[in-house]
Amino acid sequence: MDPQGQVPVPVAVPSSDTLPDVSKISVTDAKTHVKGLSLASRTVHADDGISAHRAIAPAMHVSTTFRYNDDPDKLTAWDNTDPAAPLDSHVYSRDTHPNTTRMEAVLTSILNGPSLTYSSGLSAFHAMLVHLNPKRIAIGDGYHGCHGVIKIMSRLTGLQQLELDSDLSELGPGDIIHVETPLNPTGEARNLEYYAEKARKVGAYLTVDATFAPPPLQDPFAFGADIVMHSGTKYFGGHSDMLCGVLAIHPKHKEWLKPLSLDRMIIGSVMGSLEGWLGIRSLRTLELRVLRQSATATALVAWLNSLRSGDSPVSGLIAGVQHASLQPEAADEGSWLRRQMPGGWGPVFSLIMVDEDTARRLPSRLRLFDHATSLGGVESLIEWRAMTDPKVNKALLRVSVGVEGFEDLRDDLLQGILSLKKEG
Ligand SMILES: *Cc1c(COP(=O)(O)O)cnc(C)c1O
Repeated sequence: MDPQGQVPVPVAVPSSDTLPDVSKISVTDAKTHVKGLSLASRTVHADDGISAHRAIAPAMHVSTTFRYNDDPDKLTAWDNTDPAAPLDSHVYSRDTHPNTTRMEAVLTSILNGPSLTYSSGLSAFHAMLVHLNPKRIAIGDGYHGCHGVIKIMSRLTGLQQLELDSDLSELGPGDIIHVETPLNPTGEARNLEYYAEKARKVGAYLTVDATFAPPPLQDPFAFGADIVMHSGTKYFGGHSDMLCGVLAIHPKHKEWLKPLSLDRMIIGSVMGSLEGWLGIRSLRTLELRVLRQSATATALVAWLNSLRSGDSPVSGLIAGVQHASLQPEAADEGSWLRRQMPGGWGPVFSLIMVDEDTARRLPSRLRLFDHATSLGGVESLIEWRAMTDPKVNKALLRVSVGVEGFEDLRDDLLQGILSLKKEG
């Protein structure tokens, strides 16, 4: 055993009573043995067969470098895949390493397209722009950090930014329409088929930031996306303890995987070992967490929205609530919105208070919701969004619902808002 408690990837074929022989699992088997299984089963089993070890829980490998095959006859210049371990073959961790490779096996299965991980959501977005290298990108409001990446790219390549909801007649082949849905910070959804049609007409690509609605809430590939990106820092990580970015490629573009991997190896925007290990652990419970968070958020939204009526104990303090569940199409079975989000609405919504001062004060009155930026973790967060978003309505609070009990979260919000009312 090496210091990580891991039996090395077999150099000689191990005897059958010690280790399974990874070389006998074909790459195709390993990728297809979970085909047709539910999302919950795939998050637990899509990386079966990648490790040679008998341990049930994945090991955390910290090594940056990996031994080559001992047999000189098996060494080929510039082909460093180890035939003894086709699914677990690594050379140097700026290229691949075991923790993230397993995480990518799970992501590839659950996102329905070959997937790569990156050091953060924004580095994934950057990698996507470097790869597609468009002349123009149409993008709307949403997470402001992506606009920062576009600015850097514009400096280097002259990339032009267009407003998503302009006529887009300037877009041409190879350009990008980038849609974030659901949208930060409101949690409202945008119609992907509508933008896919616009992209198709001019030969542009549709790229989708699906951070706010991970599986099982939506599958952007079913609505025309060419690349789906996620800030895995949010729901894939799910515990506010790791940075991660993900690009999933529509299977019709699977030849993009290689150049994207090469770019990543050169630039070095890989996830760390610890993060990859945490990521696998988190993905196991993705469906449990996200369905719970989605249901609780939707119930809180309905309740908060009902508090706007004149006879509520806090009437006059809440100016509005924004969430996909309150979009008019949500009530309409067969609408684009119901088709696009069949698994439930996202767990993030916006609460608009009557004024800036009320919004700034409310987080300090809450006991279960922490006042912090980010979202997607098991703990509920609330953010006076003006803290990090220079353009947002200053009366807006962004709420990320965790996995706590609905009644506890509801009661916490109620006592917090009531305490402001008593003062007012
Ligand atoms: C957080 C976030 C990002 C950026 O992701 P990082 O992992 O923080 O780099 C991008 N898009 C959306 C919608 C986000 O919420």
